[in-house]
Amino acid sequence: MIRNVAILGATGSIGTSALEVIEKYPDRFSIWGLTSHTRTENCCAMIKKFRPKTVAVSSEMIGDVGGFLTDGFGSVALLEGDQGINTIAAADEVDIVIAGIAGAAGFASTVSAIRAGKKVLIANKEPLVMLGGLLRKLVAESGAQIVPIDSEHNAIFQCLPKAAQVDCMSGGIDKGQGLLRHGVRRIILTASGGPFLNTPLDGMSDITPDQAAAHPRWTMGRKISIDSATMMNKGLEIVEACVLFGVSPQNIEVVIHPESIVHSLVEYLDGSIVAQLANPDMRVPIAAALADPERIESGVERLDLVRAGQLNFQNPDDRKFPCLAIARQAAEAGGAAPIVLNTANEVAVNAFCAGRLRFTDIPDFIQCALDKFCDRTADDLISITRLDQLVRETLQNRLDAGATSLQQMVAGY
Ligand code: MG
Repeated sequence: MIRNVAILGATGSIGTSALEVIEKYPDRFSIWGLTSHTRTENCCAMIKKFRPKTVAVSSEMIGDVGGFLTDGFGSVALLEGDQGINTIAAADEVDIVIAGIAGAAGFASTVSAIRAGKKVLIANKEPLVMLGGLLRKLVAESGAQIVPIDSEHNAIFQCLPKAAQVDCMSGGIDKGQGLLRHGVRRIILTASGGPFLNTPLDGMSDITPDQAAAHPRWTMGRKISIDSATMMNKGLEIVEACVLFGVSPQNIEVVIHPESIVHSLVEYLDGSIVAQLANPDMRVPIAAALADPERIESGVERLDLVRAGQLNFQNPDDRKFPCLAIARQAAEAGGAAPIVLNTANEVAVNAFCAGRLRFTDIPDFIQCALDKFCDRTADDLISITRLDQLVRETLQNRLDAGATSLQQMVAGY
C-alpha cells in the first residue's frame, strides 16, 4: 500500500533529507503535499520531480511558483501561507505528515496534523516544548501517532521495547511513571558539544554568528546550529524527552560525545544500557520513522566501527554552557517555564545573529525572561499562544528601543 506523505518545510534541511529517502521508495510513499517558505527554485524543482497534488508557499513566493505551475503543472493546487500549510497537514488524503518547519512557525501546522489524527513525524522541538502535556492529550484524543525524528529522541525510541514505543506514539505515557513502567531507569542524551567544545571560557564572548552556525558534525539550519553552539538545543531536548517519554528531568542525563556516533542511550533497571549508533545523518532517523515498524534503506553510508575507532564521553562544562542548566530548571519548573524558555531563546538567537547580543549574553537574556514571565498560567492553546506573543513582543520592543547592552535590555523588568 502506498502511503501519502505531506512534508511541511520541504525545502529546509529536514524536508530535503526526507525527500532523498522517499525518492528511493516510489512503491511505498507518494508525496501528496509539500510546503515551502523560501527557496522558490528548490520548491519548483521538487514540484517537477515529485508531482505533489497540493503545494503551500509563503505570500512572497506565490507569484513565482504560480507562474511556474501555469507552465505545465496545472493539476497542482497552490495554497498560500499558514492556512495553506494547515490545510495540507490535515488533508484527508494524507497518511504521514513530516513536521519540519523550524521554530514557533511550525507550531500550528503540527497541531493541525495531530488533530486530524495523522502519523506525525516530529522534527521540530517547538510543539513538544511549548505544548507539553497538552500535546499528549491532543494525540490521545485524536488517535494520532507521533514519532520523533530529532536524532536523539529517535535513537531513544529505537532503544525502547515495542510496548513502550506504542505508549509514546499514542500519547498514553504518564508523566513520572512513563518509561519507568517499562523497566527504564534513565535516558542518556548525547551532545556533540558543538563548535566551541574546546574553546576556552574567556574566548566565548567574541564568538560571531558565522562561527556559531558552523556545526562540526551535523549540517542543519542556522537557528538549530546556533542552539547547538550554546547547548540550548540539548536543553530543549531535555524538555522534549520529558514530553515524549513521560520521564522527569532527574531521569535524563546529558553526556558530551564529540564523535556524534552514539545518538542516545536508554539505561534499564538490570544495568543494561541500549544505544543506537549510526553515522550522523538525518536520513537515518527519518527512514526509521517513515518505515516503522519495518526497516528501509536510508542511503546513508554504513557505520564502520573499526574506522570510527574511539568513542569518547565527557560531562558538559556548566560554566561555558549555562543554557543547559537554565533549560533543566525550566523543565523541572514546568508550567509556563518551557514556553518562556523557547520563545526567549528564539528572540535571543535572532538578536545575536543581528549583532545586537553577544554570544555570552544569550543565557542571561533567557534567564531574565524566565524570571519575568515563568509564573504566568499557560495551559491551553490560546493562553500558550498569548504568552508566546507577550514574551516575544516585550523582548523585541526592548531590543528595538535601542538597548545595546544586556543591562539596558533588562532595565525596568
Ligand atoms: Mg537533536
